[in-house]
Amino acid sequence: MTGHEIVLLMGPPGAGKGTQAARLAAERGLAKLSTGDMLRDHVARGTDLGNRAKAIMDSGELVPDDVIVGMVRATFESKPDLRFLLDGFPRTPGQAAALDALLAEHGASITAAIALAVVDDELVRRLVLRSEEEGRSDDGEEIVRTRMEVYRRQTQPLLDYYDGQGTLRRVDGSGDVETVTARLRNVLEEIEASSTDGRDDGRDDHDEPQVLHGASKGHP
Ligand code: ADP
Repeated sequence: MTGHEIVLLMGPPGAGKGTQAARLAAERGLAKLSTGDMLRDHVARGTDLGNRAKAIMDSGELVPDDVIVGMVRATFESKPDLRFLLDGFPRTPGQAAALDALLAEHGASITAAIALAVVDDELVRRLVLRSEEEGRSDDGEEIVRTRMEVYRRQTQPLLDYYDGQGTLRRVDGSGDVETVTARLRNVLEEIEASSTDGRDDGRDDHDEPQVLHGASKGHP
């Protein structure tokens, strides 16, 4: 028997959300819900939604909240056991509020909002590499800069929101893929253990790296 589990993976572009989301979801028997992947799928299939979203995505800006929330709502309805790993959602305060409301409708709540922290120089290096390997149309240097700005302005404030809710966990996203997966696994296992024995552990890792804010203004 398994109950609801809603894990949010947050962090700037290049932090490794997609890679880690796939690994963690498989390990924990969660369905990975990636709004970026869903949008790219719409674009590839040439749906109405995809046609409208493409130009926005290629500019590095965000697709409107109602479009995104509609996709998430439909996905939740298709899997009402609500065991999800959310990658790239929520990204705005409006989306965060909509998520809380959707979960409340189902009597569920957020298990953990994990912020993957990686220093700026490393983010840029990873994104340039990904651009060369995958040729994603929004991985050009100028657009990457926009996406980082958009992240700082619209998404980063959500970390405070989840900190206030007591669900935020910051995890060091530097190092190789397996190392980061192990850190994430530990955090989730810790939460699971503390929730099964009466939840006396409100820890918010004291050894967390505080790099999300320390960003320099000018990117290369
Ligand atoms: P990243 O590598 O930056 O995490 P994603 O693959 O998650 O990128 O998203 C790619 C693009 O898709 C974003 O730049 C944005 O235009 C759009 N997008 C994805 N998720 C959302 C969302 N939750 N809200 C608005 N736009 C989104």
